Amino acid sequence: QNRMARMNRKAPEPVKAPKRFEDLPEYKKLMAHKAISAMAGVENPFYRSHERAAGATTVIGGKEMINFASYDYISANTHPKVEAAAKAAIEQFGISASASRLVAGERPLHTTLEASLAEVYGTEAAVCFVSGYLTNAAAISTLVGPKDLVVHDELIHNSVLAGVKLSGATRRFFRHNDAADLEKVLNGVAGNFDRVLVIVEGIYSMDGDIANLPEFVRLRARYGFWLMVDEAHSLGVLGKTGRGTFEHFGIDPTSVDLWMGTLSKTASSCGGYIAGCRALVEILKAEAGGFVYSVGLAPVLAAAAIASIDVLRSEVERVDALRRNGHLFLDLARQAGLNVGTSAGYSVVPVIVGDSLRAVQLSNELLEAGVNALPIIHPAVQEGLARLRFFLTADHTPEQIARAVSLTAEILKDLERRKVGLGSIDI
Ligand code: PMP
Repeated sequence: QNRMARMNRKAPEPVKAPKRFEDLPEYKKLMAHKAISAMAGVENPFYRSHERAAGATTVIGGKEMINFASYDYISANTHPKVEAAAKAAIEQFGISASASRLVAGERPLHTTLEASLAEVYGTEAAVCFVSGYLTNAAAISTLVGPKDLVVHDELIHNSVLAGVKLSGATRRFFRHNDAADLEKVLNGVAGNFDRVLVIVEGIYSMDGDIANLPEFVRLRARYGFWLMVDEAHSLGVLGKTGRGTFEHFGIDPTSVDLWMGTLSKTASSCGGYIAGCRALVEILKAEAGGFVYSVGLAPVLAAAAIASIDVLRSEVERVDALRRNGHLFLDLARQAGLNVGTSAGYSVVPVIVGDSLRAVQLSNELLEAGVNALPIIHPAVQEGLARLRFFLTADHTPEQIARAVSLTAEILKDLERRKVGLGSIDI
């Protein structure tokens, strides 16, 4: 019996430990960055916690700051009408849609919001998703696949890249805002593909410059590609009534196939949308996994977005104020000798300082002086083009803008004098 038991006993299973996350190159890179910052005595500027609604001003660490790090472009985030609409939606619907819209998640607020967005763009229809990032990922991966081609501006947002990757389509890029280079790319490859999608941003998030849309529309007519424009930083910003890039250029909005945008900026909510023709919207509502298999936009967020877009319509002076502020920031920054790159002076103005560590330290010293503006460093931008980004809002005052610009110029000069930067560290 003992022998039988011994024979039945299984050999011990070989043990193989899963890879340790600590050993991944991603983690090692993070640790190396932390070590460099510690060596330079520089604090991490990211994840600063805000203790109240962050618009033109905010509170960080108990201290009131002038804030240039929020996308609250028309300052609708704390507008009484937006807050009242959100509160009413909570009272009627609770917080969550609790299911995909296909099953139990549909609310009247969804169709109201989509009709409102379609009206903004003069398109037949619109569909909303639970985030802007997801909107790009879901829409692109639904419309193109392995037989197709996506060509995008080299500075396009990461969410577009995620969508293309998910789609399996061939990806090419063209030089920033260079329609002639797009044409070159198209001449080289477009004939080999079934569907061709070209993607640009209205206002570019890192540089604050405006897409050369008339040229891209002209090429669309010649090559017959679908044109998609990401209006994240342009809705409520460009055009006399803030409708965005088409209004800025006086272009017929139906000469763009997909108007994409987020609800997290001018619409002071959370979510994203595609506006376009009815067939496109119906396809996305039926086929996009990120719509079909994801919860409906929270009713409270839909209500806030509807109310913010109503504010955009009824208080167009907010668009004027934002534009004045953007232009003022740009003019003063140039006068102070700051490098604002190609910014057109609307929602985003970068101050390019070059060195990543210098950008981080500039942000930290500005914070001490009462101004919150965040650095963008490699790999989000090319090495050597690190910058602080200043996001303007309608509520900023000329005094706040003048103070921020003069402090930035002053501190930057001092950092240059002290040679603060990666080059000055012995690694
Ligand atoms: N597109 C662009 C150009 C963006 O800048 C962003 C985010 N800032 C997104 C899409 C994603 O939007 P969201 O943050 O609303 O998910």
